[in-house]
Formats: sequence, structure tokens, C-alpha cells
Amino acid sequence: MKNANGINRRDFIKKAGLLGGFAGLAGAGVSGLAAGSSKESYTGWGRTAYGKDQFFNRQPFFSDTPTYEQVGKPQRIPYIDDLFNRLGELRRLMMARPGSEPRWSFEMGVDALPEPLRSYYKIRPDALDEYRQAMEKAREQRENWPKYRADHLLAEAYSAAHASFLGGPGSFPPQPQGPPEESDFRGVDERYLELKSPIHGSQLIKQITHTFGASLVGICRLKEEWVTQGFMRGVGKTDFEVPKHWKYVIVVAIPHEWDSMYANPIYGNSYDAYSKLRFIVGKLEVFIKKLGYPARAQFPPTAYEIAMPPVAIDAGLGEQGRHGVLITPELGANSRLAAVITDMPLEPDSPIDVGIKKFCNKCKICAEECPSGAISFADSPETISRGYKRWSIHQEKCYKIWNSVATSHARGCRVCIAVCPYSRKRNWIHNIVRVADPRDPTGLFASGMLAMQKSFFAYPGGEAYLPPPDGSNQTYIDPPKWLNTDEWFIK
Ligand code: SF4
Ligand code: SF4
Repeated sequence: MKNANGINRRDFIKKAGLLGGFAGLAGAGVSGLAAGSSKESYTGWGRTAYGKDQFFNRQPFFSDTPTYEQVGKPQRIPYIDDLFNRLGELRRLMMARPGSEPRWSFEMGVDALPEPLRSYYKIRPDALDEYRQAMEKAREQRENWPKYRADHLLAEAYSAAHASFLGGPGSFPPQPQGPPEESDFRGVDERYLELKSPIHGSQLIKQITHTFGASLVGICRLKEEWVTQGFMRGVGKTDFEVPKHWKYVIVVAIPHEWDSMYANPIYGNSYDAYSKLRFIVGKLEVFIKKLGYPARAQFPPTAYEIAMPPVAIDAGLGEQGRHGVLITPELGANSRLAAVITDMPLEPDSPIDVGIKKFCNKCKICAEECPSGAISFADSPETISRGYKRWSIHQEKCYKIWNSVATSHARGCRVCIAVCPYSRKRNWIHNIVRVADPRDPTGLFASGMLAMQKSFFAYPGGEAYLPPPDGSNQTYIDPPKWLNTDEWFIK
């Protein structure tokens, strides 16, 4: 039945339904737009390690056939089909070797190309012409760059920093070559723009370093006493004055992967954080050089000319614990460090005092758990090292244990990092502790928390971490499922 407007009831319901659907979609669109513009809605970075970024349920969409369409006999992929492979070949041919002419130029034509380039471009002459035009565009772009440089200085530096790992064979970042007055200035661009202020410098550097993957970033002036003596990378064994351009230190901290770290000494390793840190400070060194300042990365395991815990303390990241490791409010003792030294104008941070040293006076858990007995039980820092008080660590005893634990490649122990009460995840109870303890002048809160820690958390105890016959290959906390060999292999 049709109404006065000629629309029957069923059509009306359909249209109304559709309209309702559109209205719903529009509403969803508006709220989706708001949600989508929120930076909290980004996928990736942060939940990646736990597989939480792959959240889409693929199960309902599994298909018997892939969505690419086969229309002929499949063939292997010739390497020359890859754009960068063939352009690499062309570039090599067009580059003149010292004392000789280029082996090919566009004027020589397709027939003069060697195989397989000749066959490839014979059937695609337009592709060669596009490449010629692309090269002309690249030359134009290089000539135009001075016009754009002031507007895009940072974008260029950021991109160059990320691309810097492509810099040829060898580990990244490259080790310094020659004295720092040469090495730290190698690759430094002309200073093109002046910073608005050191505060702007610090804010920029922190923002960029976080995007490179740093969890924590702090900045301090470099004190002479934190610079090592007797050896300089790029020079060798030498006594040296602290170079004049070593003014500021940008200190970076990241954690080891948490669950494997808790399963120390067997399942943790130092290299997960080491490898990430090298990339972070290697890129930061390049970024700073592109802005026109000298820079020198300091990174694990041994590429340092400065002592890291003291500069991290100066830079406001945390305090040194009884075990000699830096403890930060966010990462606890699970804070691995690297740095970049520079004279870029920066505003230093201030050190912090959140009561960690006081807590360590009472706690002693790391000393009790240390399988080697390397950590001091003294009631307060008892040894003087180069003019500063600290708890003593017996380095050789510790190193012996590194070489004694069940896994041989990822040598190390790190039990003291795992058991430290500060190395706790960011859940509500630990967030309360983070906020309340530093504000409690009586120390009662800390005593209460310590009593709870010792009662509720089980500790295997010292030698239990060692292989038989001395111990039983215990770990502080059970390994994560994904590192448990029995989960995946038949033994
Ligand atoms: S790494 Fe192990 S052996 Fe070394 S101090 Fe820490 S707990 Fe002791
Ligand atoms: S385990 Fe206790 S004593 Fe050792 S560093 Fe951590 S808080 Fe300090």
C-alpha cells in the first residue's frame, strides 16, 4: 500500500532504516573523528613487546585463497625487478672511477647497457626515461635546498638521523676515529639557524630522543670528575684534558624487557637494552651534528668516556642504589643508560632526591639475594671512591657469577636489578608508593612497604640462582611463557 506521497510502508521502513543507519554512522563518524584525532589512539610503540598492537581479530576473515589474483604460470622474481636493485646497478655504471670514464650514460642508449638491464629497459623504455627525469629532479632538489632549509631544518636532521644506520659496514654508531676535536666534529653541518634559547634546545632534544625510543631523558652539565682518564676512543691509551666542547650530557634510560628481566639471571640479558640504546644515541649524535653542533655518543657495553650513574644523577633521572645501579622513579633499577656529549646550548635539569638512598639504608634485599656476596651490607654508604661516598661492590666477585649462571651466551646475572623493590611495574599500588614515599619525612611508609615486600614476595636466595651443585638454577620470578623452551620444543 502506498501513502499520499507514493511511498509504500516497506520502502519507508527500508529508507528509514537506511537513514537511521547513516545517522548512526555519522554519529560514529563524529565520535570516531574525535577518537582518531586523539594521540592516545595510535597503534604501535608501547604495547608492541606484548603483542597488544596486533589487536584485530583475523579469525572471521580467514580465506582459502589469498587476495592476489593468479592469471598465469608463477615465476621466481628476477632481482632486477626491484627498483632499488636496478637503480643501484645503473648508478654504479654511471659513476666514474678515478682516472676513467663512466661505463654508461643516458646518451649511450639502452643497447649499451649490460644484461639484465638491457633486456629490462628494452621492453620498458619509458622506465629509463622516468629514471632520467628522477635524477634531474634530485639535482634540482639539491639546488633548491637552500631555499627550503630554514623551514625544514629539523625535518632534514630527523630524517638524516634515522637514515644514519645505513652508513656502511660496521656496527652502529661508528666508533670515534682520531681525537675528539676532530672526531666529534666529523659530519657536523654548518650552523644554519640559532636556537631561540637553551630551554628550547632541551625541550627539542628531549622530544626527539623520546621519538628515537628513549623512556627517560635528562640533561646535565658535565663535571670533570665524571670523565674517565687514561684511554680515549679514537686515540688509545692517553692522559687527556676534558675537551672544551664536552659541556653537556644528554642522558637516556630505557628498561630491559620486563618479564625476562624479572626472570634473571637465566632469562634476562643485557643486550636487549644495549642494542636499543645504541640506536637511540647513535641517531641523536647525527641529529645534533646536523643542527651544527659537535656530538659524541656514549653507549654500552663499553663505549664510554664518562661514568654513567653520576651523570644520570646530575641529569635528574634518579639516585644510585646500594647495588651501584641507577634507580629511577619510573623504571626502578631496570634503567639502562647511554648518553650524548655536546656543546649545543641546553638547559640542564636538576638532580632529584626521592629518598632512594634512605630506603637502601634499610632494605638490603639486593645484598641478601646477590649470589656472589658482591654487594655491601653496610647500614649506609661506607666506601669512598674518587672523592665520593658509595656502597662498595666487589666487581670481580660479581663478574665470576656472570660467568657461572646457566646460560652461557647472554652472560650476566642482574638478580640485583630484578629483586630491587623499585623495579616494579606501573600498577596502582606502586604508583601510590612512588607518590607517597618521597613525601613521608618519618620513613614509616618506607618501613611498612619494605616489611610488606619481604613478607609477600618470595626470594629464592643467593646461591639458589647458580647451577648445581652450588644451586638449582632458580630465577627470581618464573620465565615468561614465550621464553620457556618446554612450551615450544620437544625434548
Ligand atoms: S649482578 Fe648478580 S652477582 Fe653481580 S652484584 Fe648483581 S646480584 Fe650480585
Ligand atoms: S634492593 Fe633494596 S637496597 Fe638494594 S638497591 Fe634496591 S632498594 Fe636499595
